[in-house]
Amino acid sequence: MRRKLVAGNWKMHGSHSANAELLAGISSARPFGCDVAVCVPFPYLSETAVALAGGPVLWGAQDCSAHEQGAYTGEVSVAMLAEFGCRYVIVGHSERRQYHAETDLLVAEKARTALARGVTPIVCVGETLAQRDAGETEAVVKRQLSAVIHALGHCAGEMVVAYEPVWAIGTGKVATPEQAQAVHALLRAQLKAATPNADEMKILYGGSMKPDNAVSLLSQPDIDGGLIGGAALKAADFVAICRAAG
Ligand code: PEP
Repeated sequence: MRRKLVAGNWKMHGSHSANAELLAGISSARPFGCDVAVCVPFPYLSETAVALAGGPVLWGAQDCSAHEQGAYTGEVSVAMLAEFGCRYVIVGHSERRQYHAETDLLVAEKARTALARGVTPIVCVGETLAQRDAGETEAVVKRQLSAVIHALGHCAGEMVVAYEPVWAIGTGKVATPEQAQAVHALLRAQLKAATPNADEMKILYGGSMKPDNAVSLLSQPDIDGGLIGGAALKAADFVAICRAAG
């Protein structure tokens, strides 16, 4: 049986005091019966690493550069993230694809760069509402995942995949467990064709997961955890989702 992973995506939220309270609230609720991580804004990596050092809760970032180093003003390399002890980095979040014009190829390159430095990429895929209404969900998520599978080659089995329907992110409109499971099964089948360990890979669901819908989503056979946005900012809600996953 796959151990579940619940990862918080703090997005562009936080302050020294709010972070300290949130991290203390999560840490004091241990132990969890699942893997738990928080993906925080870059400036807070250092204090997060200090606050969580030696404990089971892992940390990561929300993006990385596809470049190793050099004249790329404003970018943050995976080597830097690794120095801060990041275990995970989110790549291809729909907000990056939408507001920063990130292409499938760039996302794939970021995932490849992350793995090369030993940081596990959480690769986000997902369709917009217009794409779902046009019956394009399968084609869109397969195209997005295919670019990453191709770039990772024999390492494809080491990534974490997150299915995040764009229409469910931050909207309160959650995919039904059946809708989510159907896409997760498609993604698992695609991974099976690419890597021998697809059955051990984690495919997370993200999009308005909250304490009151977590159990039904997480009980689906191919949903191996959650990528949590809004509910990751309240310790009680995030902990409740971790408990649902454990
Ligand atoms: C996300 O941003 O990855 C996300 C899932 O957000 P929310 O839980 O707020 O929908």
